[in-house]
Amino acid sequence: MHTNSIIELNKSAYQKNIDFLKKTFGKKVILSSVVKGNAYGHGIAEFVNMAYECGLRHFSVFDVEEAKSIRAQLQHRVTIMVMGLVNEQDMDWAIENEVEFFVFNKIRLTKALKSAKKLHKKAKIHIELETGMHRTGFEKRDLNSIIETLKRESEHLVFKGLCTHYAGAESIANYYRVDKQIKRFEEMYQYICNHGIQPEIKHSACSAASMMFPETRMDLVRIGIMQYGLWPSPEVFVNYLNSKKSKIDPLQRVISWKSKIMNLKIVNSGEFIGYGTSFLAERKMKIAVIPIGYAHGYSRSLSNQGRVLINGHRCIVVGSVNMNMMSVDVTDIEKVKKEDEVVLIGNQNGLTVSVASFSDFSNQLNYELLTRISKTIPRKIIE
Ligand SMILES: *Cc1c(COP(=O)(O)O)cnc(C)c1O
Repeated sequence: MHTNSIIELNKSAYQKNIDFLKKTFGKKVILSSVVKGNAYGHGIAEFVNMAYECGLRHFSVFDVEEAKSIRAQLQHRVTIMVMGLVNEQDMDWAIENEVEFFVFNKIRLTKALKSAKKLHKKAKIHIELETGMHRTGFEKRDLNSIIETLKRESEHLVFKGLCTHYAGAESIANYYRVDKQIKRFEEMYQYICNHGIQPEIKHSACSAASMMFPETRMDLVRIGIMQYGLWPSPEVFVNYLNSKKSKIDPLQRVISWKSKIMNLKIVNSGEFIGYGTSFLAERKMKIAVIPIGYAHGYSRSLSNQGRVLINGHRCIVVGSVNMNMMSVDVTDIEKVKKEDEVVLIGNQNGLTVSVASFSDFSNQLNYELLTRISKTIPRKIIE
């Protein structure tokens, strides 16, 4: 465990996000909390416990490894759905432990059926359809054979869901493509129903689709980024505001990232700071060294760019972000000492470093920046 910094999860902020999302989608839509990528860097173990306490009962993950960590935390009190990878050797575990999973090719369908028969336990599957993203999913020409298998093997396979994923609903530029996907999904759903079987639920929406295309909400929404208090893109946020009288952001950032000053140093005018020559002190400067670097997920592209908060001041990173350390300019802060709090993401004395401002500096998406935050940093839930 690194104790050089701490990630705090704000439970009341999370509850507000969930309240907003539930109100937006209504009671009939299941809200599935997407916690792949270590819960978008928030820390999956701590995060799912907090989410459970805030009323979440459905979680979506990328792989079985993540499903296992949720089962370890919450046992059988929640539903888990794997949207991506189920390795051969994990299939038995998934079925045995009643983990639901996407099936997007015949190899997996055959494997699921075989395991289910062997274990005398039904596999709960979500048939994923190809509607235009061209990543995973069954094509229209595959439908007859899937329908036949599902009908014949209904003792072993539960047709839990029918689903798809959109190729970029967060951007208006993709409107035409997503709109076509929505229509294709509906057509294929009808085709299946017309052949005498029906999924228990159908679902397709991620955060962006759920806001930009309400018809995609269907029976369940798979919400990642918005539950963490961030918009999928500025476009989705602006689109939301345009639909409302009050121009208030209903979402609140859940994560904060804090560290402490490890060393202070006076540097004379004319000296370079850190490796190489990327930063030249043009005056006598006071520098604080922070024990955070790219090994912890603080991007190297924030060299000479990133901002942190110390004693209520906004301070700029000087020189390059190193593997485990970086330096910030504290020349203009009179009272500053070793161990003083450093906010990398979050609030301090009325100032904020948001995830968005932080990622804009380095041209990263919120998603990418968050998931890079090291797993080894301790996570703490604050009420
Ligand atoms: C990641 C993911 C989501 C959630 O996306 P957000 O934009 O974070 O809401 C939904 N569905 C699938 C298939 C995903 O991979």
